[in-house]
Amino acid sequence: MERFKNIPLHEIVGRIVAIGEKKFRAQQIISWVYDKRVAAFDEMRNISGELKEKLKQNFLLGKLNVTTIIESKYGDAVKFGFETADGDYIIESVLLIDGDRRTICLSSQLGCGLGCVFCETGKMGLIRNLTQEEIVGQFIGVNDYLVSKGDKLITNIVFMGMGEALSNFENFLNSLAIFMHEDIYNIGGRRITVSTAGVVPSIERLLKEKLNIGLAISLNSYSNELRDQLMPINKKYPIESVMAIARRYAAESGRTVTFEYVIIDGKTNTPEALQALQKYCSGFDCKINLIPLNPFAGGNLPGPIDSSLEKFADALSRMGITATIRKSRGQDIWGACGQLAGKRISR
Ligand code: SAH
Ligand code: SF4
Repeated sequence: MERFKNIPLHEIVGRIVAIGEKKFRAQQIISWVYDKRVAAFDEMRNISGELKEKLKQNFLLGKLNVTTIIESKYGDAVKFGFETADGDYIIESVLLIDGDRRTICLSSQLGCGLGCVFCETGKMGLIRNLTQEEIVGQFIGVNDYLVSKGDKLITNIVFMGMGEALSNFENFLNSLAIFMHEDIYNIGGRRITVSTAGVVPSIERLLKEKLNIGLAISLNSYSNELRDQLMPINKKYPIESVMAIARRYAAESGRTVTFEYVIIDGKTNTPEALQALQKYCSGFDCKINLIPLNPFAGGNLPGPIDSSLEKFADALSRMGITATIRKSRGQDIWGACGQLAGKRISR
């Protein structure tokens, strides 16, 4: 039987017509499933008993089970564990609370195949892509939590959790269709960002979609030599090719491209790094988001001390490059960047 939340949005009408129902029913069902976040067809009140039976015979509807909710003691982050639809693994997501913003950091894959040496998710290897249901399910689960707290709903989305969203392109796009649809969640491209390690053909593909979403590229190094060591994908798509596509993205989308740049003390925050970054960033609309290296189990690279981080940010600013420091929200709950690693459920 087909899982309802895995049906791409544009195919739902066809499925409803195929079971002998009128087109307009599709809109009602979509509204119950996504807006009202029901967990079962029986909860849909303006739908006849007969149609509910038909839906139950043809589709599976459910919600991802929440396994853990860990609230940061600072009140600015909450980490969630969700069971995968097959029940075998844990998907992790983080809610970031900042003023009026409620940002969800979504996972797109179980593990990741790109193997960056500083990243906890990379250590898992790629287990599999998450389905549309599992991507949108994180969003639904976090909205359920926000509603239970009497808080507002999610306002912003970043694909910066587990995995490389652009390597799970179809489910990523289908999930965006639901997030961005004005009758469903209506989250505009300006409030969505996808982060990538720099898989160049996937960025080209994203450009073709003209979604107007923000692009963040994990640069993390200033030379091919260092980037080859830290991010194996660099051997396939070296810095020059990443920079060329970044410039195209900025020019064609009209949006500022963000470079995420992990500070590994003594390695990525050197004077040579400053020089190289100046060259890469000159003459196009970009900014650098400095991320202090978060410790992870088994990692032995040094994170920066606060003063060296600020010094590096100041030096970039003096060179005319916009540089921000990413506050590592949720470090106390192991939910900061590169620290998500869903474990297999042992039964
Ligand atoms: N695969 C995508 C998105 C997930 S990682 C990507 O790599 O862009 C999100 C961010 O966390 C990336 O910028 C990555 O460089 C960063 N990151 C990974 N491990 C980290 C760590 N130990 N400390 C700080 N940032 C880390
Ligand atoms: Fe994958 Fe991103 Fe982690 Fe690299 S940093 S291993 S691309 S999740």
